Amino acid sequence: MFVATKLPENTKVSGWVQMLPERTPNPSLSKSINVDVAIIGAGFAGLSAARRLSQCNPKLRVAVLEAGEIAAGAAGRNSGFIIDLPHEVSSDEYAGSDAGPTRRHIMINRTAIQLASDVAQERGWGKDVFDPCGKYNIAMSAQGDEHISSYAKQLDALKEPYRLLDSRQVADVTGTTAFTSAIFTPGTIIVQPAAYVRGLADSLKGGVKIYEKTPALSLEAVGKEWRIKTPQGAVTAGKVILANNGHAESFGIYRGLLMHVFTYASMTEEFSPARLGGDRSWAATPAFPMGTTVRRVRGERGDRILIRSRYTYNPRLKISENDVERAGRVHDRKFDARFPTLKGVQMEHRWGGAMALTWNGVPAYGEIESGLFAACACNGVGATKATALGIAAADSILGIKSELLAAFGQFEAPKSLPPQPFLTIGAKANLGFREWRAGKE
Ligand SMILES: Cc1cc2nc3c(=O)[nH]c(=O)nc-3n(C[C@H](O)[C@H](O)[C@H](O)COP(=O)(O)OP(=O)(O)OC[C@H]3O[C@@H](n4cnc5c(N)ncnc54)[C@H](O)[C@@H]3O)c2cc1C
Repeated sequence: MFVATKLPENTKVSGWVQMLPERTPNPSLSKSINVDVAIIGAGFAGLSAARRLSQCNPKLRVAVLEAGEIAAGAAGRNSGFIIDLPHEVSSDEYAGSDAGPTRRHIMINRTAIQLASDVAQERGWGKDVFDPCGKYNIAMSAQGDEHISSYAKQLDALKEPYRLLDSRQVADVTGTTAFTSAIFTPGTIIVQPAAYVRGLADSLKGGVKIYEKTPALSLEAVGKEWRIKTPQGAVTAGKVILANNGHAESFGIYRGLLMHVFTYASMTEEFSPARLGGDRSWAATPAFPMGTTVRRVRGERGDRILIRSRYTYNPRLKISENDVERAGRVHDRKFDARFPTLKGVQMEHRWGGAMALTWNGVPAYGEIESGLFAACACNGVGATKATALGIAAADSILGIKSELLAAFGQFEAPKSLPPQPFLTIGAKANLGFREWRAGKE
């Protein structure tokens, strides 16, 4: 029997949710039910698994249990990059291999992008929700410029298209002279993440039912089935997909293997587009992975800037409002350094959210007990990786021998984290060092 010792706590509401109209959540589970598949968690992984299951077999009875509301968790709190290409290319591909780990990652990412694109097409979304506009990887220092040139060589080896931009060309796009160079890659999708996950949830058909404000409290094997307790009813299911990312460990699963790291975002109030030249909508990740993500979000009444940076290690899986405010002060400095012409524009929304990393960067994935499947450990890029994990978990249950499933089968198992207190000391020192190394970026 696995008992949840912690449930998700979301500090502050993300700007993305606040920009959307009010929504009535799906009713909570209020009685005991029997289903074929129960999914714990309605983020990218859980909802994508449900979609794949119902598409392949509309008759399957699927229950998705979400502790909070759709889009209140990390899936509706992120920066909205559904990224196709990894940040670093492995040395195998440098040597010209066609089948190395980077190619595998790209295939995994593109499978996720395909699912997202199908949802976008079905729902008829405009660019305000789903924009296949690509992304910039952007530098602010000589060190960052070096990273950009080296990344261009890696992309050459992979035969992936890109465009290099010098400081003047970046200024034409961003409306600021703060950036020194950039590389544009066309395959990333940029979404309004809260609108995307809500739409993904609403796209579910067939036998899928979502129960919001319905935390799974315990999980127990009873004969050949699994019984999940929730506050007002139990779910008996032939198969279970654990799609609750770091909270898998709250059930004692993957104990000592998941590192709980939070990251933070601030979003400005709307400002008149006349105050900042360049394109009215663009999205940039930093040249150094631990640096600052920036987006300009075009709105009907004005535009906003999103700044995402800071990482903190929070093994208790929660952060305080003070943590968000502290990160916010860093965001303000980053904003001022990048957009001096927007002096006086205030941050309207600030928030933080959880990610689950493994020591060796692999997913926590697979059939961990008979009929119990895990699709966890987003490693910070869950919009793609967790989506793909969800699809793969569904394929596993459906007995589909997909290329995706084979790719996940090739990952090694998550490596043990160092014991406490060395883990806390090491994680904090490592995050601090890497943020320091990212410097201005
Ligand atoms: C500020 C920020 C920016 C980010 N930017 C990006 C980005 O641009 N691109 C990207 O790819 N990634 C980004 N990420 C990371 C991304 O959001 C996560 O990787 C992703 O949300 C993980 O998806 P998931 O489905 O695995 O988990 P989650 O999205 O965390 O979903 C898990 C769900 O499980 C639910 N749950 C947990 N326990 C229980 C329980 N006991 N019972 C029922 N439900 C439960 C939770 O409430 C949650 O809704 C960012 C994260 C943050 C915080």
